[in-house]
Amino acid sequence: MAQNSNVVLKGVAASAGIVIGKAFLLEDDDFCLIERQLPRHVRAAELKRLEDALEKTRAEFRTAHDKINEVLGENYAKIADVHLLILDDPVMKNDVSKLINDGVNAEFAVYKVLDKIIASFDAMKDEYFRERKQDIQDVSKKIINNLLGKEKRTLASLNDDSIVIAHNLTPADTVAIREKFVKGFATDIGGKTSHTAIVAQGLEIPAVVGLKNISAQVKNGETVIVDGNKGEVILKPSEEIIEKYKKECTLQAERVKELAKLKDLPAETSDGHKVAILANIDNPHDMSSVNKNGAGGIGLYRSEFLFFNRNNMPSENEHYQNYGKVAKAAPDKEVVIRTIDLGGDKLAGMGLFDMQKEQNPFMGLRAIRLCLRYPEIFIDQLKGILRASSANKNIKIMYPMISGLGELREANKILEKVKASLRAEKVKFNEDIEVGVMIEVPSAAVIVEEIAKEVDFISIGTNDLIQYTLAVDRVNENVAHLYDPLHPAILRLIKNIIDAGHSAGIKVAMCGEMAGDPDFTVVLLGLGLDEFSVSAPQIPKVKKVIRSVSFADSKAAAEEMLKCRDKEGIAKAMKKIKND
Ligand code: PEP
Ligand code: MG
Repeated sequence: MAQNSNVVLKGVAASAGIVIGKAFLLEDDDFCLIERQLPRHVRAAELKRLEDALEKTRAEFRTAHDKINEVLGENYAKIADVHLLILDDPVMKNDVSKLINDGVNAEFAVYKVLDKIIASFDAMKDEYFRERKQDIQDVSKKIINNLLGKEKRTLASLNDDSIVIAHNLTPADTVAIREKFVKGFATDIGGKTSHTAIVAQGLEIPAVVGLKNISAQVKNGETVIVDGNKGEVILKPSEEIIEKYKKECTLQAERVKELAKLKDLPAETSDGHKVAILANIDNPHDMSSVNKNGAGGIGLYRSEFLFFNRNNMPSENEHYQNYGKVAKAAPDKEVVIRTIDLGGDKLAGMGLFDMQKEQNPFMGLRAIRLCLRYPEIFIDQLKGILRASSANKNIKIMYPMISGLGELREANKILEKVKASLRAEKVKFNEDIEVGVMIEVPSAAVIVEEIAKEVDFISIGTNDLIQYTLAVDRVNENVAHLYDPLHPAILRLIKNIIDAGHSAGIKVAMCGEMAGDPDFTVVLLGLGLDEFSVSAPQIPKVKKVIRSVSFADSKAAAEEMLKCRDKEGIAKAMKKIKND
């Protein structure tokens, strides 16, 4: 057996399934460097590793020099020589070597020495020195890249056998991955309800996030196993382990086949209580998976994905075409288009907004707040939705991140203005189009009785409701263990929201990830949830649970859970549900 085989890295299970493939390391500017203390006997080898990385970097700079010389001439090529001068600076090399001799790993030693020099440039205002700082940063990045075995790679060079390994993938990167048919991915950072994880589920590719430093531990081309069910990645798997996982993959495929038989059966309990299971999508491409899994409609279309990976805003016509396409693919079924929820973890990768980097983007100018700040963008989208609703009466509008009645009324005022302008232009739309809101901000959950009186439906966005109520960042792997959908505070909030909706005579849906986790199906059913909106592959799993229980038992289970005061009580009640 190879040395150090079967290294198991534990992270957060972001998207179910198992995949075995070759690692494709995506270069990232944000290194995830860790300081490691090296035992004495490996320090000489570490110095050799540094030598090799310096030599490789030197060769790269020389090639750059020659290329520039060829195209632009010697004067320009001298600029590239600055990098070589920094690289060959004896003081820098001595300092790095000294740290390695003291037991610091090479990557961290390079980072430490060069970062100190870079910091000293911060105090200088002179443009010349600012440029030199950038040069040093470039050199530092190159050496560290070579030490980590990272090559300059982009998504364009991906092939369909790859498992993407990255420090981070933005939701925009994940969309690009869609086009490349990647088999799976694993990242250093992220939580279960980060948008990157959600997109992976929609794509039906196994993913594990929050692995902390996988991007520093894997080399390009190495075989890795991503176990999206357990939230584990296995590096350097032995033949035996590969065989074991291959068998598990076969079993998994059989389970999926078995679940597919539920496609046309209703989501109905054994005592005849019916609920609806809809799908969450972020792209019209998802519609094939939606129909394959027998969704009762679209409970959440994350329309912000229309804004990714481009440098211009989508036009009103583009909105119109896009929503029409989705609605036509689900005829006679409701299609809830959520107006854009940009901001939070969804601005990265976008060059569209000239927005300052925010300290707390999840609490910043996001979703409806952004739309009310930039009404032109909102108006274009609303016009597109309304126009599409003329031929597709199944379309509904939903506002995200509503925190109180003020925002709801302000958004509705803009909607009414848009309707008036369309009427004036004699453009047809569905005059009875339904408008709902997401309940995902705790303030909205507390005053939900008031909100429910002014909308046609509500949908609980647990991804955000949990993060804001428990003060647990949904993309931060360090607090992922605190992200608890069954926290007594969350269960009680959900119960209040459902009751308030029903008192107002409107339906209550849930479109956060909690709705798609079969472990929570019984309790949500018992709390009286009308619609589960989940990522398409989860539909049969949730349906299977619904069809296997009675509504009476679910209600009793939910009542018992609501009485629980703490985690221990909840765990006990959950165990009982599972064993029943
Ligand atoms: C939610 O917050 O639960 C939700 C469905 O919206 P998003 O995940 O897009 O923030
Ligand atoms: Mg949300």
